[in-house]
Amino acid sequence: MKANCWMGRNTVEVQEVPDPTILNAHDAVVRVTSTAICGSDLHLYDGYIPTMKKGDILGHEFMGEVVEVGPEVRKLRVGDRVVVPFPIACGACGACEHGMYSVCENSNPNAGMAEKLMGHSPAGIFGYSHMLGGYPGGQAEYARVPFADVGPIKIEDDLPDEQVLFLSDILPTGWMGAEMCDIKPGDVIAVWGAGPVGQFAIASAFLMGAERVISIDRFPYRLQKAERAGAETLDYEKVDVLDALRDMTAGRGPDACIDAVGMEAHHPAGVAHAYDRARQATRMETDRPHALREAIMSCRNGGIVSVIGVYGGLIDKFPMGSLMNRSLTMRSGQCHVQRYLKPLLGRIRNGDIDPSFVISHRMRLQDAPRAYEMFKNKQDECNKIVLTP
Ligand SMILES: [Zn+2]
Ligand SMILES: [Zn+2]
Repeated sequence: MKANCWMGRNTVEVQEVPDPTILNAHDAVVRVTSTAICGSDLHLYDGYIPTMKKGDILGHEFMGEVVEVGPEVRKLRVGDRVVVPFPIACGACGACEHGMYSVCENSNPNAGMAEKLMGHSPAGIFGYSHMLGGYPGGQAEYARVPFADVGPIKIEDDLPDEQVLFLSDILPTGWMGAEMCDIKPGDVIAVWGAGPVGQFAIASAFLMGAERVISIDRFPYRLQKAERAGAETLDYEKVDVLDALRDMTAGRGPDACIDAVGMEAHHPAGVAHAYDRARQATRMETDRPHALREAIMSCRNGGIVSVIGVYGGLIDKFPMGSLMNRSLTMRSGQCHVQRYLKPLLGRIRNGDIDPSFVISHRMRLQDAPRAYEMFKNKQDECNKIVLTP
Protein backbone atom coordinates (compact mmCIF):
# COMPACT_ATOMS: atom_id res chain seq x y z
CA MET A 1 0.00 0.00 0.00
CA LYS A 2 0.97 3.65 -0.18
CA ALA A 3 1.68 5.53 3.06
CA ASN A 4 3.02 8.90 4.08
CA CYS A 5 6.28 8.29 5.94
CA TRP A 6 8.37 10.54 8.20
CA MET A 7 11.87 10.62 6.74
CA GLY A 8 13.54 13.19 9.00
CA ARG A 9 13.12 16.81 9.88
CA ASN A 10 10.95 18.64 7.30
CA THR A 11 10.75 15.56 5.09
CA VAL A 12 7.88 13.20 4.43
CA GLU A 13 7.62 10.78 1.51
CA VAL A 14 4.79 8.70 0.16
CA GLN A 15 6.22 5.21 -0.07
CA GLU A 16 5.16 1.66 -0.91
CA VAL A 17 5.02 -0.26 2.37
CA PRO A 18 3.62 -3.66 3.37
CA ASP A 19 -0.15 -3.79 3.97
CA PRO A 20 -1.12 -3.96 7.65
CA THR A 21 -2.38 -7.28 8.96
CA ILE A 22 -4.29 -8.49 12.00
CA LEU A 23 -1.69 -8.96 14.74
CA ASN A 24 -4.03 -9.39 17.70
CA ALA A 25 -7.44 -11.04 17.88
CA HIS A 26 -8.98 -7.66 18.84
CA ASP A 27 -7.61 -5.80 15.78
CA ALA A 28 -9.40 -4.54 12.72
CA VAL A 29 -7.91 -3.34 9.46
CA VAL A 30 -9.49 -0.23 7.96
CA ARG A 31 -9.29 0.94 4.34
CA VAL A 32 -8.78 4.66 4.82
CA THR A 33 -11.22 6.86 2.91
CA SER A 34 -10.23 10.22 4.45
CA THR A 35 -7.35 11.36 6.62
CA ALA A 36 -6.17 14.76 7.78
CA ILE A 37 -2.97 16.57 8.68
CA CYS A 38 -3.01 17.97 12.20
CA GLY A 39 -1.13 20.83 13.81
CA SER A 40 0.46 18.25 16.07
CA ASP A 41 1.82 16.44 13.00
CA LEU A 42 3.87 19.59 12.46
CA HIS A 43 5.63 19.01 15.79
CA LEU A 44 6.83 15.69 14.27
CA TYR A 45 7.60 17.32 10.91
CA ASP A 46 9.57 20.06 12.64
CA GLY A 47 11.55 17.43 14.54
CA TYR A 48 10.49 18.35 18.08
CA ILE A 49 8.99 15.02 19.17
CA PRO A 50 11.68 12.53 20.16
CA THR A 51 11.80 8.83 19.20
CA MET A 52 10.68 9.13 15.58
CA LYS A 53 12.34 6.73 13.15
CA LYS A 54 12.88 7.08 9.42
CA GLY A 55 9.99 5.40 7.62
CA ASP A 56 7.40 5.80 10.40
CA ILE A 57 3.89 6.14 8.94
CA LEU A 58 2.27 9.40 10.05
CA GLY A 59 -1.35 10.30 10.71
CA HIS A 60 -3.70 10.08 13.68
CA GLU A 61 -6.88 11.52 12.12
CA PHE A 62 -8.53 9.01 9.83
CA MET A 63 -11.67 7.12 8.98
CA GLY A 64 -12.64 4.42 6.55
CA GLU A 65 -14.19 1.06 5.90
CA VAL A 66 -13.47 -2.07 7.92
CA VAL A 67 -11.96 -4.68 5.59
CA GLU A 68 -10.81 -7.30 8.08
CA VAL A 69 -11.51 -8.10 11.74
CA GLY A 70 -9.71 -10.32 14.24
CA PRO A 71 -11.54 -13.35 15.70
CA GLU A 72 -12.33 -11.60 19.02
CA VAL A 73 -13.87 -8.45 17.50
CA ARG A 74 -17.58 -8.37 18.40
CA LYS A 75 -18.94 -4.95 17.48
CA LEU A 76 -17.45 -4.33 14.04
CA ARG A 77 -17.96 -6.17 10.80
CA VAL A 78 -16.34 -6.05 7.41
CA GLY A 79 -18.00 -3.23 5.47
CA ASP A 80 -18.70 -1.01 8.51
CA ARG A 81 -17.82 2.66 8.11
CA VAL A 82 -15.88 3.97 11.11
CA VAL A 83 -14.08 7.00 12.49
CA VAL A 84 -11.03 6.04 14.56
CA PRO A 85 -10.00 8.06 17.67
CA PHE A 86 -6.32 9.06 17.82
CA PRO A 87 -5.58 7.64 21.30
CA ILE A 88 -5.48 3.85 21.39
CA ALA A 89 -7.31 2.53 24.44
CA CYS A 90 -8.02 -0.96 25.79
CA GLY A 91 -11.36 -0.13 27.39
CA ALA A 92 -10.65 -2.35 30.40
CA CYS A 93 -7.88 -0.80 32.54
CA GLY A 94 -8.34 1.53 35.50
CA ALA A 95 -7.85 4.62 33.34
CA CYS A 96 -10.27 3.49 30.64
CA GLU A 97 -12.88 2.54 33.26
CA HIS A 98 -12.77 6.15 34.41
CA GLY A 99 -13.10 7.48 30.88
CA MET A 100 -9.46 8.61 30.79
CA TYR A 101 -8.82 6.91 27.48
CA SER A 102 -5.79 8.96 26.45
CA VAL A 103 -3.92 7.63 29.48
CA CYS A 104 -4.87 3.97 28.93
CA GLU A 105 -2.47 1.78 30.86
CA ASN A 106 -2.37 -1.03 28.31
CA SER A 107 -1.98 0.47 24.87
CA ASN A 108 1.62 1.69 24.85
CA PRO A 109 3.99 -1.23 24.28
CA ASN A 110 6.91 1.21 24.69
CA ALA A 111 5.72 2.58 28.03
CA GLY A 112 9.26 2.40 29.41
CA MET A 113 10.44 5.04 26.94
CA ALA A 114 7.66 7.43 27.96
CA GLU A 115 8.23 6.75 31.66
CA LYS A 116 11.81 8.01 31.38
CA LEU A 117 10.58 11.39 30.16
CA MET A 118 7.18 11.70 31.84
CA GLY A 119 7.26 9.50 34.94
CA HIS A 120 4.32 7.41 33.77
CA SER A 121 3.22 6.52 30.27
CA PRO A 122 0.15 7.87 28.48
CA ALA A 123 -1.77 5.78 25.92
CA GLY A 124 -0.36 4.80 22.57
CA ILE A 125 -1.23 7.16 19.70
CA PHE A 126 -1.41 6.37 15.98
CA GLY A 127 1.54 7.72 14.01
CA TYR A 128 3.05 9.63 16.88
CA SER A 129 6.58 8.39 17.72
CA HIS A 130 7.92 5.23 19.29
CA MET A 131 7.69 6.68 22.76
CA LEU A 132 3.90 6.65 22.21
CA GLY A 133 3.75 3.12 20.91
CA GLY A 134 5.26 3.24 17.42
CA TYR A 135 1.86 2.54 15.85
CA PRO A 136 1.72 3.08 12.07
CA GLY A 137 -0.62 5.99 11.36
CA GLY A 138 -3.58 6.59 9.11
CA GLN A 139 -2.07 8.76 6.36
CA ALA A 140 -2.07 5.58 4.33
CA GLU A 141 -4.34 3.41 2.24
CA TYR A 142 -4.90 1.01 5.14
CA ALA A 143 -4.39 1.06 8.90
CA ARG A 144 -4.41 -1.55 11.64
CA VAL A 145 -6.71 -0.53 14.47
CA PRO A 146 -6.03 -2.24 17.82
CA PHE A 147 -8.87 -2.68 20.38
CA ALA A 148 -11.33 -2.37 17.52
CA ASP A 149 -14.35 -2.81 19.82
CA VAL A 150 -13.30 0.12 22.01
CA GLY A 151 -12.18 3.01 19.81
CA PRO A 152 -13.87 3.26 16.43
CA ILE A 153 -17.38 4.68 16.15
CA LYS A 154 -19.68 3.36 13.44
CA ILE A 155 -21.20 5.95 11.14
CA GLU A 156 -24.49 4.44 10.12
CA ASP A 157 -26.05 7.29 8.19
CA ASP A 158 -25.10 9.15 5.09
CA LEU A 159 -23.15 11.96 6.78
CA PRO A 160 -20.21 12.62 4.45
CA ASP A 161 -16.63 11.89 5.57
CA GLU A 162 -15.89 15.61 5.85
CA GLN A 163 -18.54 16.10 8.54
CA VAL A 164 -17.44 13.21 10.76
CA LEU A 165 -13.68 12.82 10.13
CA PHE A 166 -12.74 15.36 12.81
CA LEU A 167 -14.38 13.26 15.51
CA SER A 168 -11.01 11.46 15.37
CA ASP A 169 -9.26 14.32 17.17
CA ILE A 170 -9.74 18.04 16.70
CA LEU A 171 -13.47 18.38 17.34
CA PRO A 172 -13.45 16.45 20.65
CA THR A 173 -10.13 18.11 21.54
CA GLY A 174 -11.62 21.59 21.12
CA TRP A 175 -14.74 20.45 22.97
CA MET A 176 -12.75 19.05 25.90
CA GLY A 177 -10.73 22.27 26.04
CA ALA A 178 -13.96 24.20 26.57
CA GLU A 179 -15.45 21.58 28.90
CA MET A 180 -12.43 21.84 31.20
CA CYS A 181 -13.32 25.55 31.64
CA ASP A 182 -16.51 24.72 33.60
CA ILE A 183 -18.31 27.43 31.64
CA LYS A 184 -21.11 29.26 33.43
CA PRO A 185 -23.56 31.81 31.97
CA GLY A 186 -21.83 35.17 31.60
CA ASP A 187 -18.33 33.71 31.33
CA VAL A 188 -15.64 35.23 29.15
CA ILE A 189 -13.35 32.63 27.62
CA ALA A 190 -10.06 33.47 25.90
CA VAL A 191 -8.61 31.05 23.37
CA TRP A 192 -4.95 31.18 22.28
CA GLY A 193 -4.60 29.83 18.75
CA ALA A 194 -7.28 30.19 16.07
CA GLY A 195 -6.29 27.12 14.12
CA PRO A 196 -8.81 24.29 13.71
CA VAL A 197 -8.62 23.17 17.37
CA GLY A 198 -9.00 26.77 18.54
CA GLN A 199 -11.93 27.18 16.14
CA PHE A 200 -13.64 24.14 17.63
CA ALA A 201 -12.88 25.36 21.15
CA ILE A 202 -14.57 28.67 20.29
CA ALA A 203 -17.64 26.92 18.85
CA SER A 204 -17.80 24.58 21.86
CA ALA A 205 -17.48 27.43 24.38
CA PHE A 206 -20.47 29.18 22.80
CA LEU A 207 -22.47 25.91 22.72
CA MET A 208 -21.70 25.54 26.45
CA GLY A 209 -23.06 28.99 27.20
CA ALA A 210 -20.07 31.33 27.20
CA GLU A 211 -21.18 34.93 26.86
CA ARG A 212 -18.03 36.13 25.13
CA VAL A 213 -15.10 34.33 23.52
CA ILE A 214 -11.88 36.15 22.69
CA SER A 215 -9.63 34.57 20.09
CA ILE A 216 -5.90 35.32 19.95
CA ASP A 217 -3.81 34.65 16.83
CA ARG A 218 -1.76 36.52 14.25
CA PHE A 219 -3.08 35.21 10.92
CA PRO A 220 -5.87 37.43 9.59
CA TYR A 221 -7.69 34.57 7.83
CA ARG A 222 -7.83 32.56 11.05
CA LEU A 223 -9.00 35.56 13.06
CA GLN A 224 -11.70 36.13 10.45
CA LYS A 225 -12.92 32.55 10.93
CA ALA A 226 -13.04 33.20 14.68
CA GLU A 227 -14.99 36.40 14.09
CA ARG A 228 -17.48 34.62 11.87
CA ALA A 229 -18.03 32.18 14.76
CA GLY A 230 -18.94 35.11 17.00
CA ALA A 231 -15.63 35.62 18.79
CA GLU A 232 -13.89 38.92 19.47
CA THR A 233 -10.33 38.82 18.21
CA LEU A 234 -6.85 39.99 19.16
CA ASP A 235 -3.86 40.03 16.83
CA TYR A 236 -0.96 39.50 19.19
CA GLU A 237 1.44 41.14 16.76
CA LYS A 238 -0.56 44.36 17.04
CA VAL A 239 -1.55 44.54 20.71
CA ASP A 240 -0.18 43.58 24.07
CA VAL A 241 -2.41 40.63 24.86
CA LEU A 242 -2.35 41.01 28.65
CA ASP A 243 -3.27 44.70 28.46
CA ALA A 244 -5.94 44.09 25.84
CA LEU A 245 -7.58 41.28 27.81
CA ARG A 246 -7.54 43.42 30.95
CA ASP A 247 -9.22 46.25 29.06
CA MET A 248 -11.84 43.93 27.61
CA THR A 249 -12.79 42.41 30.97
CA ALA A 250 -13.02 45.44 33.25
CA GLY A 251 -9.54 44.77 34.55
CA ARG A 252 -10.33 41.33 35.86
CA GLY A 253 -9.17 38.94 33.11
CA PRO A 254 -11.02 36.14 31.31
CA ASP A 255 -12.80 33.56 33.49
CA ALA A 256 -10.96 30.80 31.70
CA CYS A 257 -8.10 30.64 29.23
CA ILE A 258 -7.59 27.87 26.67
CA ASP A 259 -4.13 27.18 25.27
CA ALA A 260 -4.78 25.69 21.82
CA VAL A 261 -1.24 26.46 20.66
CA GLY A 262 1.23 24.20 22.44
CA MET A 263 4.94 23.74 22.15
CA GLU A 264 5.81 25.79 19.07
CA ALA A 265 4.28 29.09 20.10
CA HIS A 266 5.40 32.25 18.35
CA HIS A 267 6.14 35.43 20.17
CA PRO A 268 5.82 38.90 18.74
CA ALA A 269 8.48 40.69 20.76
CA GLY A 270 12.09 39.66 20.38
CA VAL A 271 13.59 38.82 23.70
CA ALA A 272 11.41 36.08 25.18
CA HIS A 273 11.02 34.39 21.80
CA ALA A 274 14.76 34.48 21.16
CA TYR A 275 15.30 33.01 24.62
CA ASP A 276 12.89 30.13 23.96
CA ARG A 277 14.23 29.54 20.44
CA ALA A 278 17.79 29.34 21.72
CA ARG A 279 16.91 27.08 24.63
CA GLN A 280 14.88 24.83 22.33
CA ALA A 281 17.55 24.71 19.63
CA THR A 282 20.14 23.58 22.15
CA ARG A 283 17.61 21.14 23.65
CA MET A 284 17.84 22.90 27.02
CA GLU A 285 14.10 23.44 26.75
CA THR A 286 12.02 21.21 24.48
CA ASP A 287 8.96 23.44 24.18
CA ARG A 288 8.27 27.14 23.63
CA PRO A 289 5.54 27.95 26.12
CA HIS A 290 4.76 31.55 25.25
CA ALA A 291 1.02 31.10 24.83
CA LEU A 292 0.78 29.12 28.06
CA ARG A 293 2.63 31.78 30.05
CA GLU A 294 0.34 34.42 28.65
CA ALA A 295 -2.78 32.34 29.38
CA ILE A 296 -1.73 31.96 33.01
CA MET A 297 -0.81 35.62 33.47
CA SER A 298 -4.06 36.81 31.83
CA CYS A 299 -6.53 34.57 33.60
CA ARG A 300 -8.68 36.16 36.30
CA ASN A 301 -8.02 35.29 39.94
CA GLY A 302 -9.52 31.91 40.70
CA GLY A 303 -9.96 31.12 37.01
CA ILE A 304 -9.13 28.05 34.95
CA VAL A 305 -6.33 27.49 32.46
CA SER A 306 -7.18 24.69 30.06
CA VAL A 307 -4.29 23.25 28.07
CA ILE A 308 -5.08 21.29 24.91
CA GLY A 309 -2.12 22.46 22.80
CA VAL A 310 0.44 19.68 22.68
CA TYR A 311 3.60 19.83 24.78
CA GLY A 312 6.42 17.32 24.50
CA GLY A 313 8.78 17.81 27.37
CA LEU A 314 10.13 20.65 29.49
CA ILE A 315 9.48 24.38 29.62
CA ASP A 316 11.28 27.31 31.19
CA LYS A 317 10.08 30.36 33.06
CA PHE A 318 6.79 28.82 34.09
CA PRO A 319 4.85 31.42 36.13
CA MET A 320 4.14 29.15 39.07
CA GLY A 321 3.88 32.11 41.44
CA SER A 322 1.04 33.57 39.42
CA LEU A 323 -0.75 30.23 39.25
CA MET A 324 -0.42 29.50 42.96
CA ASN A 325 -0.95 32.90 44.53
CA ARG A 326 -4.00 33.67 42.40
CA SER A 327 -5.80 30.37 43.02
CA LEU A 328 -5.75 29.32 39.38
CA THR A 329 -6.67 25.81 38.32
CA MET A 330 -4.78 24.25 35.44
CA ARG A 331 -6.34 21.37 33.55
CA SER A 332 -4.88 19.54 30.60
CA GLY A 333 -4.76 16.36 28.66
CA GLN A 334 -4.65 14.68 25.33
CA CYS A 335 -8.31 14.36 24.49
CA HIS A 336 -10.17 11.34 25.84
CA VAL A 337 -11.77 11.10 22.41
CA GLN A 338 -13.71 7.87 23.02
CA ARG A 339 -15.73 9.69 25.70
CA TYR A 340 -17.04 12.31 23.29
CA LEU A 341 -17.71 10.34 20.10
CA LYS A 342 -21.38 9.58 20.61
CA PRO A 343 -22.49 12.94 22.01
CA LEU A 344 -20.58 14.89 19.37
CA LEU A 345 -21.81 12.68 16.53
CA GLY A 346 -25.29 13.48 17.85
CA ARG A 347 -24.55 17.21 17.69
CA ILE A 348 -23.27 16.87 14.12
CA ARG A 349 -26.36 14.91 13.13
CA ASN A 350 -28.77 17.43 14.67
CA GLY A 351 -26.98 20.36 13.09
CA ASP A 352 -25.50 22.01 16.20
CA ILE A 353 -22.15 21.95 14.47
CA ASP A 354 -20.84 21.14 11.01
CA PRO A 355 -17.11 20.52 11.53
CA SER A 356 -16.34 20.64 7.81
CA PHE A 357 -16.07 24.42 8.03
CA VAL A 358 -12.41 24.10 9.05
CA ILE A 359 -11.38 22.44 5.76
CA SER A 360 -9.46 24.70 3.42
CA HIS A 361 -7.78 22.17 1.13
CA ARG A 362 -8.57 18.73 -0.25
CA MET A 363 -5.64 16.83 -1.71
CA ARG A 364 -4.54 13.32 -2.64
CA LEU A 365 -2.47 11.17 -0.28
CA GLN A 366 0.37 11.15 -2.82
CA ASP A 367 0.53 14.95 -2.48
CA ALA A 368 1.31 14.69 1.25
CA PRO A 369 4.82 16.19 0.95
CA ARG A 370 3.42 19.31 -0.73
CA ALA A 371 0.51 19.38 1.70
CA TYR A 372 2.84 19.36 4.74
CA GLU A 373 4.81 22.29 3.32
CA MET A 374 1.64 24.26 2.59
CA PHE A 375 0.23 23.57 6.03
CA LYS A 376 3.46 24.38 7.82
CA ASN A 377 3.94 27.67 5.99
CA LYS A 378 0.22 28.60 6.02
CA GLN A 379 0.38 29.01 2.26
CA ASP A 380 -2.84 29.87 0.45
CA GLU A 381 -4.55 30.52 3.80
CA CYS A 382 -4.15 26.86 4.64
CA ASN A 383 -6.33 25.95 7.61
CA LYS A 384 -6.95 22.20 7.44
CA ILE A 385 -6.05 19.68 4.77
CA VAL A 386 -7.99 16.49 4.11
CA LEU A 387 -6.14 13.81 2.14
CA THR A 388 -7.83 11.02 0.26
CA PRO A 389 -5.89 7.89 -0.67
ZN1 LIG B 1 -4.66 15.75 15.48
ZN1 LIG C 1 -7.08 1.04 28.96
